[in-house]
Amino acid sequence: MIHVLDLKFQNKPDTIAAFLIETSAGPILVETGPYSTFKPLKEAVQGKGYTLEDIKHVFITHIHLDHAGAAWALAELGATIYLHPFGKQHMNAPSKLLASATRIYGEEGMERLWSTLKPIPAEQLKTVEHQEVITVGDTTLKAWHTPGHAVHHIAWQWGEELFAGDVAGVKIEGGPAMPPCPPPDINIEHWQESLRLIRSLKLNHIYLTHFGAIPAAQIHRHLDELEAGLLRWANWMRPHYEQGKKAAEITPLFQAFVKQQLAAAEVTEAQYDLYENANPAWMSVAGLLRYWRKKLEQ
Ligand SMILES: [Zn+2]
Repeated sequence: MIHVLDLKFQNKPDTIAAFLIETSAGPILVETGPYSTFKPLKEAVQGKGYTLEDIKHVFITHIHLDHAGAAWALAELGATIYLHPFGKQHMNAPSKLLASATRIYGEEGMERLWSTLKPIPAEQLKTVEHQEVITVGDTTLKAWHTPGHAVHHIAWQWGEELFAGDVAGVKIEGGPAMPPCPPPDINIEHWQESLRLIRSLKLNHIYLTHFGAIPAAQIHRHLDELEAGLLRWANWMRPHYEQGKKAAEITPLFQAFVKQQLAAAEVTEAQYDLYENANPAWMSVAGLLRYWRKKLEQ
């Protein structure tokens, strides 16, 4: 049984989820949310009849702070953290990750959005290869390395359920599928390959961290919409990059472009705020500019 836990990020609903699965070895967690939502996480887990100390196995899709920022606190309570090999060093010695996130969000943003990040001892970080299967009690999870959004991204398959992190996009309250494109790893071609891999799996649901379940009947349409949106964003950005514009100059134009896309899909103002809460447009400007710089300057 999967429980979708709403972490009430920035006191708003339907933005960041963690997922609790009940197994014979106790509850396991997929995603932790940031440390700023540790209290709502604790309360949500208690609401399902468990304590955080009961959780001995935590699976993270990637090391972005909205997905894994509280992993250290669960490790302090005794959990093993399962992650992509490229993420281990950053979780073990997070100074570089923190510096990179601070460049993006600023000191004030770091505190307000993510709160603290502490190192996780290496022996509690279990790296998982592509297609490796992890067994916990009577249950197994299979890792699919799925780069494109981040080089350290894993989609975790549990039976016919897939915890897709950010590689399957953001979709909030029935709105359209949108691609989160933060720096530094965005790679459109790798992302498309990962989407092909996901399409090839037999699935009942895809679970999005932002936010919730996509049922089988909607999976292909969702992934097609995401891929089209990703290409649309990337192609929108390219001429701005080629004209040598600065991110600060592009951001209001891109925000207007995204807002118009969401409005065309009949997303309300309140839902637009949730999309921005989960996937701020300014962040994708930085990520897509970096993608084009890497690709075109080679
Ligand atoms: Zn991410």
